[in-house]
Amino acid sequence: MRCLSGKCACRISNEIAQVYESAKSVEEVKPEISDLAQRIFASLERLVQHGQIADPSAFGQALAAAFDFCVSLLYADHTSDKDWLYCPKEPYASFYPYIKSCPRCGKDTGEQAKIKAHKPSSDKIGRYASLVLSALLSEALQRCERTWTLKLLDSSRGDIDILLYNEELLVLCELKASPLTALVVSTRHQSRPTKDVNGEPQPITDHETVDTTDWRHRESSLCIDYLTIPLQLSSEISFIRAFLQSCIQEEIIDEQIEKFIVLWRQMFTGYEKRWSEYANLRWFTFGCGGGVDDSKNAPGLDRTDDIKKGLYQSLKLTERYRMGCEERRIRVGIISNLHPVVHYGEYLSGFEDAVWTQESKIAVESSERRVVAARDLSPFYDMLFTFTRSWFRDPVLKEVFSIAKWYRALGGKDEH
Ligand SMILES: [Zn+2]
Repeated sequence: MRCLSGKCACRISNEIAQVYESAKSVEEVKPEISDLAQRIFASLERLVQHGQIADPSAFGQALAAAFDFCVSLLYADHTSDKDWLYCPKEPYASFYPYIKSCPRCGKDTGEQAKIKAHKPSSDKIGRYASLVLSALLSEALQRCERTWTLKLLDSSRGDIDILLYNEELLVLCELKASPLTALVVSTRHQSRPTKDVNGEPQPITDHETVDTTDWRHRESSLCIDYLTIPLQLSSEISFIRAFLQSCIQEEIIDEQIEKFIVLWRQMFTGYEKRWSEYANLRWFTFGCGGGVDDSKNAPGLDRTDDIKKGLYQSLKLTERYRMGCEERRIRVGIISNLHPVVHYGEYLSGFEDAVWTQESKIAVESSERRVVAARDLSPFYDMLFTFTRSWFRDPVLKEVFSIAKWYRALGGKDEH
């Protein structure tokens, strides 16, 4: 790719070459996430071929669910012994929640304020989201668009998060992603746990905060709502490794992934319909409000701060690099797991066909008309790619980043 070699004559060639030098594949950054993405994709491929994922839109949603699943495994590594939530329903179990609801009962827990939420810090969430989304995209490209490559940049250092390129084009991407839901770590109790009341052990009968010291050596699982995925833990290995070791049998991993996709799809439908459907699932999702999780933490690109930042960054990358490339080989993309379901209309739809340029590039034809070369006009972004819905201004990118095409490449049947 000429732009990456530093050999072209553009004013930005050195800068781009430097960016490329510091870029790494997901495998170089965190190999176990690459392994995980491969296993999940293999599973999705079987579900597509067996008809459990029945059309391209279901496949896009399955990818978005897979994103949440992988992010959950990374979150789980932060589980400590302190401040679990004991749930009094049978079988007796405690959970390590990320939002202020019971991962098994939802909001129906009595005192919300007492629940300790253990969501990772926002920079960690950003880092994990970026790694997982890159791993899934990279795997999709390796399976379905082999001439394209993805590399990650250390986002704390610059404006560009991801490079996507083939021989002809380089797409500079920024990534704004966050999960809709997460599976949480859960551990079983053999009998009802007790607490000290005036020196006497009394069984706990309500939802209550408890410490859980030996969870790694007990029967543990990842849970949300009715769903339970058992895991063999030990103190030495990460949750990703534990999951990969527990799913040596293909049928088992396929079944678990499929069950999670089914539940996730109900949550997504509920979210899309503003909880006029599946209202009970609301309290398992991030950004659900109601004292459970701040509505600012909306999933995917629905966080309005991210839309605003994303659009500015995109204009900045366009001005600096897209217009700086003499051969017009550079494109700009915004990437997320979920499209702005709630906020697209208000925040983005008006820019759908927008183009811009600089005054200096415009010639006066008459008092009424101005002339500008087509190459000097840029969209606000060349693609807004997400697993659930995308918008393209570039025909090549539209062809390459097509969920429908990936679905067919994995053996999915054409729609009738
Ligand atoms: Zn509960």
